[in-house]
Amino acid sequence: MASDKTLRVAVVGAGPAGVYMAAALVDQPDLTVEVDIFDRLPTPFGLLRYGVAPDHLKMKALGITLQRTLDHDNVRFFGNLELGRDFTAAELLGDYNAVVYSYGAASDKRLGIPGEELLGSMAAREFVVWYCDEPDASVGDFDLTATSAAVIGLGNVALDAARILIRDPEELSPTDVSDRVLNALRASAIKDVHIVGRRGPQHAKFTTKELRELGELAGVDVYVDPAAVADVGEIDDKVVARNVEVFREWSTRTPTGAPRRVIFHFFATPAEVLGTDRVAGLRLSLADGTTEDIDVQLVLRSAGYRGVAVDGVPFDDEAGTLTVADHRVVRPDAQVGEYACGWIKRGPTGVIGTNRSDAKETMQSVVADLPALLARETAPGSALAAAASRGAEPVTLEGWAAIDRAEIERGGPRQSARVKIANWDELLEASRAQS
Ligand code: NAP
Repeated sequence: MASDKTLRVAVVGAGPAGVYMAAALVDQPDLTVEVDIFDRLPTPFGLLRYGVAPDHLKMKALGITLQRTLDHDNVRFFGNLELGRDFTAAELLGDYNAVVYSYGAASDKRLGIPGEELLGSMAAREFVVWYCDEPDASVGDFDLTATSAAVIGLGNVALDAARILIRDPEELSPTDVSDRVLNALRASAIKDVHIVGRRGPQHAKFTTKELRELGELAGVDVYVDPAAVADVGEIDDKVVARNVEVFREWSTRTPTGAPRRVIFHFFATPAEVLGTDRVAGLRLSLADGTTEDIDVQLVLRSAGYRGVAVDGVPFDDEAGTLTVADHRVVRPDAQVGEYACGWIKRGPTGVIGTNRSDAKETMQSVVADLPALLARETAPGSALAAAASRGAEPVTLEGWAAIDRAEIERGGPRQSARVKIANWDELLEASRAQS
């Protein structure tokens, strides 16, 4: 529907979902739109920067495409502004015709087993944000004194965590990991990584390319029990069939005596993390009713991510997502103006590219509501003013460009395209060095 009036949209969360949302809006013909993208971090790109593993360089290059959207004349970026801290949902709604929440899933699913709280047992997510140098990573120096680790779950996050634990750290030198992470991985004592699945190879959620990668690592032998792939039944799904083929091939390999090992355990349900004050093992409950204790000193649970509630935005606690219908946030008073896209809408599924089509669907709901959105009374600039009155110091596109330059410069000595700045203060300081 064409209109002469400008639709002003706030997008909360500058990860791939949020940036694809902005792209979908500015690319929409006959729509005059201005989009402000906010992020609690001083940097854009969310999971592309702080979730995609550093050795997945091809995927990281997607940042170049996303940057083009940030550079669009009708798009502005404001980092270091957090919904619920610097401004409220009501303030955003009072400022913009429409608000789209795209702030992802910042927490993780727990297993609910004894010992889960022991020192050395944590979410794979914590390891991921640490090796991705997220400035909010709760762990400063990750303890890698364990010689043996378990990663629980058969999804791509488990694969990433296992691969970064076991891969020769020198191969990470030309990536964007900070020296702190690189040196900690160099000093790591890990020799064995056990990947633990409560179901079989035919139920794993891995993508095949990422799975194969694990079997191609230098200095690593992969172990799969031939019995686990002997009877997997009929398989219709192509990805599953390819995964099972990979497992089958691995099950026939003769160990080369490599210094490090990855060992798969299927139909093995984690029953208890063993230990008194810190992790001393993991008890698995097996399909035949017996148990097996594996000797590990580090346990990373990778059972899926979960969204978190933000004050003033309707949240479905059971689903771990916003309360959404047709991409619109549902409120009891049925007010129009709020939408969602990405993981906070649909849950933590799909790959980065999935968010592109997801954002287009949300955009269609926004466009369908255009007359009502344009009729809403708004006070442009009021949300940023409210944030400023609370002492917020937004990082703009120029600030992000300055961080970008500083990180690229840091990459030089390591022959890397960039080396990340991992610390809040340093990020903010770098953002102020604008040209
Ligand atoms: P996921 O794909 O949903 O996998 C979660 C795994 O945890 C499943 O194997 C699940 O087993 C298991 N699990 C759940 N509850 C459990 C419990 N109580 N005990 C034992 N195991 C349990 O989640 P994810 O690995 O966190 O990945 C999230 C999304 O990001 C996925 O869409 C993934 O593809 C994507 N991602 C992609 C890449 C990439 O493309 N390179 C990298 C990282 C992430 P059941 O099946 O039995 O429930």
